[in-house]
Amino acid sequence: MAERLKGKPVADSMKEELSRKVEELKAKGITPKLGIIRVGARPDDLFYEGGAKKTCASIKMDCEVFEYPEDIKQEDFEKAVIEVGQNKDINGILMFAPLPKHLDEKKIRSLIPVEKDVDCMTLGSAGKVFADDLTGFPPCTPTACMEILKYYNVPLKGKRVVVLGRSLVVGKPVAMLLLREHATVTICHSRTENLPEVCRQADLLVAAVGRAKMVNADYVKPGQIVIDVGINEDPDNPGKYCGDVDFASVEPIVDKITPVPGGVGSVTTAVLCKHTIMACQLQRGL
Ligand code: NAP
Repeated sequence: MAERLKGKPVADSMKEELSRKVEELKAKGITPKLGIIRVGARPDDLFYEGGAKKTCASIKMDCEVFEYPEDIKQEDFEKAVIEVGQNKDINGILMFAPLPKHLDEKKIRSLIPVEKDVDCMTLGSAGKVFADDLTGFPPCTPTACMEILKYYNVPLKGKRVVVLGRSLVVGKPVAMLLLREHATVTICHSRTENLPEVCRQADLLVAAVGRAKMVNADYVKPGQIVIDVGINEDPDNPGKYCGDVDFASVEPIVDKITPVPGGVGSVTTAVLCKHTIMACQLQRGL
């Protein structure tokens, strides 16, 4: 049976350290604060927002939600985002995306100050991530993958890693973060030939394809470590969700695997807080 790389112990250990940092900052009269920008009330956004608020509260950090109606006009929303960006009390900004279709999302994203962009919404942050500039925050999900690998002491230096997926929010940034740790990284996508064979060559496989249970026994071999980033509706269990990995067929083969739920997803809000605290320290020159 594979070792399950659960997210909760990772998040708990991070929160312990973050609480200490918040205490230190509070002793200097500073309370780090996350600002959440939400348009409308999509259930997924509300669920994540609830988790983020809970994590902030657990480490005694501040959090404020800036909520706007679904039909807000471009001009009004631009003004609102600029205002949140200029708010001196807010150190980090999370904006839920995608935005409603009538809004120019590219333009809106560019209005978030890079130094407060704790979930890599701007090209400025993406550039910093790709240039290994540590003042730029990667998106929370790829960072959560790295926190899990670090917590469970998974060696990366010189290892063959296959990342399945090349999105800007997961695949590309996680590949850059793995490269930073000296892994030898292959990025696969929908046009990759012989995909199962390429995946079988990896020491570590990161699945971020957004296809329920696509990664089955053909994609893995004994000894591998699998990080499953996927969050999909489970086609076999209505109302439940599952990963991009077919856990039942892959888990008996590999060495270590993250479960879904209870894996990568449970670490993301701790990362969001960590980025906000780091942003606060950078903004204060600490
Ligand atoms: P995305 O933007 O849809 O990107 C999916 C990537 O997978 C694309 O690069 C696509 O290739 C590739 N792909 C799709 N079908 C494929 C196939 N049959 N064979 C090989 N490659 C294929 O998705 P995403 O935003 O990166 O998210 C990926 C997964 O992570 C989703 O399940 C999402 O729900 C989940 N997610 C989880 C968290 C979390 O906190 N755990 C956060 C964000 C996302 P092309 O580029 O060639 O189209």
